[in-house]
Amino acid sequence: MACKGEQINDYLLPSIQGEKIDCFALTEPGAGSDANAIKTRAVRDGDDFVLNGSKHFISHAGHADFAIVFAVTDTYEHNGRQRNAVTSFLVDRNTPGMTIRRGPKCVSNRGYHTFEMFFDDCRVPASKVLGEVGKGWEVANAWLTAGRVMVAANCVGQAQRALDVSLQWAADRKQFGQPIGTYQGVSFKLADMATQIRAAELLTLHTAWKMDQGTMTDGEAGMAKLFASEVLGRAADEAVQIFGGMGLMNEGPVERIWRNARIERIWEGTSEIQRHIISRELLRPLLR
Ligand SMILES: Cc1cc2nc3c(=O)[nH]c(=O)nc-3n(C[C@H](O)[C@H](O)[C@H](O)COP(=O)(O)OP(=O)(O)OC[C@H]3O[C@@H](n4cnc5c(N)ncnc54)[C@H](O)[C@@H]3O)c2cc1C
Repeated sequence: MACKGEQINDYLLPSIQGEKIDCFALTEPGAGSDANAIKTRAVRDGDDFVLNGSKHFISHAGHADFAIVFAVTDTYEHNGRQRNAVTSFLVDRNTPGMTIRRGPKCVSNRGYHTFEMFFDDCRVPASKVLGEVGKGWEVANAWLTAGRVMVAANCVGQAQRALDVSLQWAADRKQFGQPIGTYQGVSFKLADMATQIRAAELLTLHTAWKMDQGTMTDGEAGMAKLFASEVLGRAADEAVQIFGGMGLMNEGPVERIWRNARIERIWEGTSEIQRHIISRELLRPLLR
């Protein structure tokens, strides 16, 4: 993806260096998994594009210095289906015509907020097109695919924490005169958690290594995200079981892991969408 020099210096590098906050604005009320259904439009008018539409569930939009906004700039037909040609734009905070409002509260990651964004004849200079006009899916795909490996790594870390606190609890908590970890009903859960976490970690490391080599496919990123997020879901649930009632109390360490784990199978593409990506990649060479 080609970026203009000023975009790298003014937006992308400061964002990577932590000097500016960005947000990624793709999802809309009618377009979640089916991103092609986005309705936000951008129409060329002289040196500008004029954006109209809305987004929701956009992480940190209220604190961001700029947003990467995806909008339809053209339509075409592909295999009898109407497809959208999408363009991505760098939109500065406080650009006239763009308003941002706090979205609903999420049960996962309570300190993390999502926002709704509204574009009402919002003028964005053509120089702020990120990549090329009509090539916004390339930008979205590059972001989401790398993001999936990041989610996988995050899940491995959370699952390991669930295992660590469960091990300690199983060793300390006594019932019927013995540490509960001495009962197979508990110790086998710990064994399964540890085994699955090790597998998720190795898959994630291998995928990250392939990303560094430039050989990672979309399906491989999907496998890491799918597997690690599902391992975390199981580990968090088992941790609650091992802690018993204390697992659901917000004084303990496990309730938060369990709540936060839930989002990981949804954002950056749901588990079902990862399975689509993986199976499509496997079948593509065989289907005519
Ligand atoms: C806390 C949070 C933060 C987010 N941050 C951002 C952000 O910063 N930027 C952004 O653009 N988006 C963001 N999102 C949006 C997120 O990416 C979407 O929620 C996600 O892609 C799923 O879309 P949806 O919620 O509309 O669910 P839907 O697409 O409506 O899916 C509902 C269910 O149907 C299933 N489903 C849908 N289609 C299929 C199919 N073809 N086959 C099988 N099953 C299917 C899904 O897997 C899911 O189980 C965020 C969401 C949340 C909750």
